[in-house]
Amino acid sequence: MPFERKSTRQIAVGKVLVGGGAPISVQSMTITKTADVEGTLQQIYALAAAGCDIVRCTCNEQAAAEGLAQIVPRSPIPIIADIHHQYRMALAAMEAGVHGLRLNPGNIRKPEHIKAVATEARDRQISIRIGVNGGSLDPSLYEKYGGITPEAMVESAQREMAYFHEVGFDLMKISVKASSVTLMIEAYRQLSEVTDVPLHLGVTEAGPPPAGLVKATAGIATLLMEGIGDTIRYSLTADPVEEARAGRQLLEALGLRERKNIDLIACPSCGRAEIDVIDVANRAMQAFGDRKIPLQVAVMGCVVNGPGEAREADLGIAAGNKRGHLFVKGRNVAVVPESEMVEALVEWAEFIHEHGTEAAIARVDTALAEREAAKDRAKLMNDQGDDVNQADERIVEIRRTVGER
Ligand code: SF4
Repeated sequence: MPFERKSTRQIAVGKVLVGGGAPISVQSMTITKTADVEGTLQQIYALAAAGCDIVRCTCNEQAAAEGLAQIVPRSPIPIIADIHHQYRMALAAMEAGVHGLRLNPGNIRKPEHIKAVATEARDRQISIRIGVNGGSLDPSLYEKYGGITPEAMVESAQREMAYFHEVGFDLMKISVKASSVTLMIEAYRQLSEVTDVPLHLGVTEAGPPPAGLVKATAGIATLLMEGIGDTIRYSLTADPVEEARAGRQLLEALGLRERKNIDLIACPSCGRAEIDVIDVANRAMQAFGDRKIPLQVAVMGCVVNGPGEAREADLGIAAGNKRGHLFVKGRNVAVVPESEMVEALVEWAEFIHEHGTEAAIARVDTALAEREAAKDRAKLMNDQGDDVNQADERIVEIRRTVGER
């Protein structure tokens, strides 16, 4: 573990444990009508394949609750029902067999309704997330604190917890989301000081990528690095599969979850690039899709610097003289036509995944591949020289321009 995590209580959402040192889980939410059983299940399967551990479906009407009754037994991952304003929908969702509920204290406000739901959840041992949302804060708290503040959000969660405790229910987790990154960070910090209930992190209404990804990552990663957070959700205005991928990738990047899929790295490209790096990297991402190959794969624009710069990658490819030079752990292993670079990467990745890097290197004549790479490297150096962006000439020109003024 790269940093110490704050210790929290553990609860179960179906088969997924949350808090108490359990791996941080990735959540997402379906955007289908829950009554559309087949469509929703299709999305759930895509989310699970992309690394989603727990999925939330809206339960806003009776038809949705009836849909959940059919979805739950066929879902590969636990289902949480998102309840809006009607507490009866929470009771119906539990009847449908969901593994968890999400209640917004700003929406269901009558104590007797909250307690009725918590009592039923207690009897069925179903967990509930207290999902405080800055945008739908209880008006009395808004008034008390003069707006949406971290303190108001924390008090909202505490009020709800008090109702739960009154009926002896404690299988809860909490979120205090806001669309402002700094506000949500402060709210979670304050909340983690006053409770050991597991926390669900998220920046609400983060918007479409890339801005939404940046905002969500800024908020979630900051807190995770402080040891705060037990489960996360990216709320993006995008295909929910993107949310699941982003969540998974963040946890892998921070060393909080084991790598499951390809980690594709690529050089930023520069004047030396022999290929369209962006295009090749995107095609490689598509070709690997959600395949469970936990390797780091590099796409590098030129054979002059590529293999060296990406020597830590399990596998990589660098362009040179209309050819792709494949390398494994920095060692040149094969040369392929430029048009076959992506296919070659996939084939080698599959081989390494199955047989290991040693076996991959042993199956080829690395000396021959290195000779070919050296040839193309030398040709590029001859053609372009050391200073590929002609910086020296530009500097002389800049000095002349500035000097003339
Ligand atoms: S690998 Fe080559 S093309 Fe890519 S950034 Fe480095 S020098 Fe430029």
